[in-house]
Amino acid sequence: MTPTPRLGLERISKTYAGSPAVRDVSFEVDEGHVMCLLGPSGCGKSTLLRIAAGVERQDSGVVRVDGRVVSGDASHAPPEARGIGLMFQDFALFPHLTVAQNVAFGLGRSLNGARSAVVGQYLERVGLSGYGAKFPHELSGGEQQRVALARALAPRPRVMLMDEPFSGLDQRLRDSVRDETLALLKEEGAAVLLVTHEPEEALRMADRIALMRGGAVAQVGAPYHVYNHPVDRKAAAFFSDVNVIHGEVRARQTDTPFGLFLTPGMVDRADVEIIIRPQHLKIEEDRGAPPPSTMRTGVPARGHVTRARFMGSESLIEVRMDHDGSLLKATVPGAYLPGAGAPLWLSLRREHCFVFPCERQSKVGNPWEDDRDRSGKRPG
Ligand code: ADP
Ligand code: MG
Repeated sequence: MTPTPRLGLERISKTYAGSPAVRDVSFEVDEGHVMCLLGPSGCGKSTLLRIAAGVERQDSGVVRVDGRVVSGDASHAPPEARGIGLMFQDFALFPHLTVAQNVAFGLGRSLNGARSAVVGQYLERVGLSGYGAKFPHELSGGEQQRVALARALAPRPRVMLMDEPFSGLDQRLRDSVRDETLALLKEEGAAVLLVTHEPEEALRMADRIALMRGGAVAQVGAPYHVYNHPVDRKAAAFFSDVNVIHGEVRARQTDTPFGLFLTPGMVDRADVEIIIRPQHLKIEEDRGAPPPSTMRTGVPARGHVTRARFMGSESLIEVRMDHDGSLLKATVPGAYLPGAGAPLWLSLRREHCFVFPCERQSKVGNPWEDDRDRSGKRPG
């Protein structure tokens, strides 16, 4: 028998003054798992988190904690009755309370012996033993964040809801605070719903990512899956720059200057887009003759460098293609800085290409031969 999910959202919708903020969203989060709501600003992440918390009420749909309905058509439990912990970007410690009093706040008003022990235990877990008598203004941003985490965790919530909790920290601190927080959350076994608009944060923290767009979930899956099997061009482009190579279907395949791609199920004359991330282009220097074609990388096509930039761990090279004047971006590890105008051959690592119908589709109407749901196809 599968265990009851700690947090369950079922068909949640919410509209503000006639414009939908959340549309029919369902997902579950298990004990000890982190689900990231990822998407651009305004896509409904915070609204969904506030609904899960109970500070906002959905127009329709059901919220469950441990299988128990905490909000539905007939009932709506307040946040404090849901067994949840909350952490926001402006995590607002009480400035007039000490660190220990702040952490104790979630456990009850006063600090008795048993509560002091719990407070001490959680301060130790976030690496702040001995800080109990200090006031928030005496702490750095990262330390304050850890106090907020201790405060949220001390009541041992079943579900932890976090809305961009790291975005107030400077870059240098962020990685270590993220990793420490994640380790602690895993130890506690709470189900975590983490809102972020940063793809790197979601990839780093999540067991599963729900990619949101316009109030709806566009795709859910493990970080590896969402990154490597995007449902469409926009989903691919949310995680990195992408190159787009256009083509047209002829007899279920698409011929391009980079070789043939299979496009099964698509009708003749449908426009397709072949999407590839910059790190998956292969670069070869021009030694007169074209480099050989291979099964894995197809046919090399020639272009000329427009600029090359050193980015630290990698170099970014922009190449104007000879065949159509399009600009492709390639990244390579380390320092590789060919001069502007240098001729290069580019090929596509085919297992990393995604083929989608063109989003500005019009010429042939429906690009598919039938109506089956399709996503993230690999070229043949
Ligand atoms: P995100 O957290 O992804 O940036 P939000 O959930 O905050 O997005 O907002 C989703 C949409 O709902 C936005 O268009 C926003 O303007 C709108 N919205 C959010 N909260 C309210 C509110 N209290 N009143 C009216 N509109 C709101
Ligand atoms: Mg938000």
